[in-house]
Parts: sequence; C-alpha cells; structure tokens
Amino acid sequence: MSAQLIDGKAIAATIRAEIKAEVEAMKAKYGRVPGLAAVLVGERKDSQTYVRMKKKACAEVGIASFGHDLPADISQAELLQVVRDLNANPEVHGILVQLPLPDHIDDEEVLGAVSLEKDVDGFHPLNIGRLSMKRREPLFVPCTPKGCIELLDRTGVTIEGKRAVVLGRSNIVGLPAAMLLLHRNATLTICHSRTQNLPGVVREADILVAAVGRAEMVRGDWVKPGAVVIDVGVNAVDDPSSDKGYKLVGDVAFDEVKEVAGAITPVPGGVGPMTIAMLLRNTLDGAKRAVGVI
Ligand code: NAP
Repeated sequence: MSAQLIDGKAIAATIRAEIKAEVEAMKAKYGRVPGLAAVLVGERKDSQTYVRMKKKACAEVGIASFGHDLPADISQAELLQVVRDLNANPEVHGILVQLPLPDHIDDEEVLGAVSLEKDVDGFHPLNIGRLSMKRREPLFVPCTPKGCIELLDRTGVTIEGKRAVVLGRSNIVGLPAAMLLLHRNATLTICHSRTQNLPGVVREADILVAAVGRAEMVRGDWVKPGAVVIDVGVNAVDDPSSDKGYKLVGDVAFDEVKEVAGAITPVPGGVGPMTIAMLLRNTLDGAKRAVGVI
C-alpha cells in the first residue's frame, strides 16, 4: 500500500489565502490590520532565517510586522522592557520571542512577561495551563501542535475515539499536541526517552505524531497498517549529492512508513509550513479580540 500524502504546503497556502481575505475585510471594516512583533536576540543564523520567513509570510497576507533585533549581550532587564513596551503598543497584537535565547537570559521570565492577549506562540504558562485543563480555553495554542491538528482536520481524519500516540513531550510540541488530541477525545499515549518497548507502543497508534528530533527513528514495522502519521521532526543528515552537503529528514523513515501508513506528512513540506500559517492565524485572532470581533 502507498499512503496518501498529506500536503502541508498546499494546505498552508489555502489557510494563508483565507487569512489574507480576513485581514482585508478587517482593514475595510475597522481601518486596522493585525500586527506581529518579532523579538530576536543575538545573531544566530537559523533564528535570523526563521524571523525573516515569518516577516515575509506576514507581508504576504497584509499583517504588519515590527522587528526588534537586539544584541546578544542585552540584559534581562532591557529585554523585559522591550516586551513590556510591545505589550503596551496597540498596533501589536502578537509578540513572538524567537527561541533559543542566550544563556544569560532567563527565558521563562521573558516568556511569562508577554501579555496573555499577545502570546501568539502560546508559550505563556497560563495558556499552556489552560490547555491542560478541562473546560478551560487558552487564548492561544502553540503553532506547531495546532498545525498538526489542522492537518488532520483538513485531511478528514476523525480524531475522536482513536488511539493516538505522541512521540515526545516537549513544552513546545509533544505536550501541547498530546493535550489537543485529548481535548478532541482521542485515547492518548505519550512516549519519551524512558518509554519501554517503543515500537510496540507506537504500533498501537491510529494517529501518530512524531516529535523527537531523531532522524528517521520510526521504522516501517513500528507502524500499524493504515495509521495516520504526522512527522514533526526536522533533522539535517549528511547528503554528499546535495549542493549544501546535507538534506532534511523527519523523525519517520518516510520511504518505509509510506508503504504501511494510510496517510503521512512529508519532510519538508508537511508540518513546517503549517507552523507559520498558524502563527499568522493566531496573530489575526489576537487582532480580532482587540477590535471585539471574537
Ligand atoms: P525536544 O525538546 O528535544 O524534545 C524531544 C522529545 O523527544 C523529548 O520529550 C524526549 O524525551 C523525546 N525523545 C528524545 N529521544 C528519544 C528516544 N530515543 N526515544 C523516545 N523519545 C525520545 O524537541 P522538540 O523541540 O519537541 O522538537 C522535536 C522535533 O520537531 C525536532 O526535530 C524539531 O526540529 C522539530 N520541530 C519542528 C517544527 C516545525 O515547525 N516543523 C517546530 C518545532 C520543532 P524526554 O522528555 O524523556 O527527554
């Protein structure tokens, strides 16, 4: 069997077009557009690339972006002041603090300083806490896990009642992805580095979300025939045939698993494009709340 390919790039393009139309409608009706502020500390090339991609995506849908490129030696107090100023700026509806922050910065304090109403990454402890509780609604859900659920929904996958296995329990991907699946009434198992008999547990999954950061760890014989596989992993592996000398692969051995699964996301072109689309969606939602539409 060859699995259905879940085309995250195409689904994300559809979502971005929907957001663009909503931004235009907001501008026409209220004379305001959503605004996203990206706080970048230091000169890490990967972080600079991510922030550049996010700003470009904002521009394409009409969201205003506000850049703050700060020196690597900025003090904790100065960085907190930047966040507080953005909290107070009415043109800013979303604040993203690009991670990782330099070692001398207490990132928990910085993320906790972002106003709940502007926490478009969904990393504020109160938003994560609400996500983990019954009958509590977070204002924002972290973008990558939200993108995983959106991929399932837009592919027509029923979540309720299914056995879902999440591989990984990080604060930014595994844990919130698990909470979202639980809210949608999946029967949930969370796996991590101490899980015993990992292949056996993964084989129980009707829906598998892999977020471990281990290149091609999930093999074909780990997967239940017909399962839906969402591969969050992005891992660089040596590839002498590529100009760059490396290629990106997921946490799932795609060529093996596609022969067993019912549906699967590719890497790249699966979850990655959804993360940025969900950031735009969260920023739009923040602006809608600010103008009182939701
Ligand atoms: P992370 O913080 O390193 O967490 C990895 C998780 O996997 C941990 O819970 C860890 O268990 C578990 N784990 C590690 N090795 C394992 C093993 N051998 N067996 C079982 N579990 C194992 O990583 P992350 O930030 O969640 O990211 C995961 C992957 O997603 C990475 O490849 C990252 O690049 C990718 N990612 C992609 C996007 C996107 O937009 N596409 C966004 C974010 C992340 P313990 O908790 O026991 O240590």
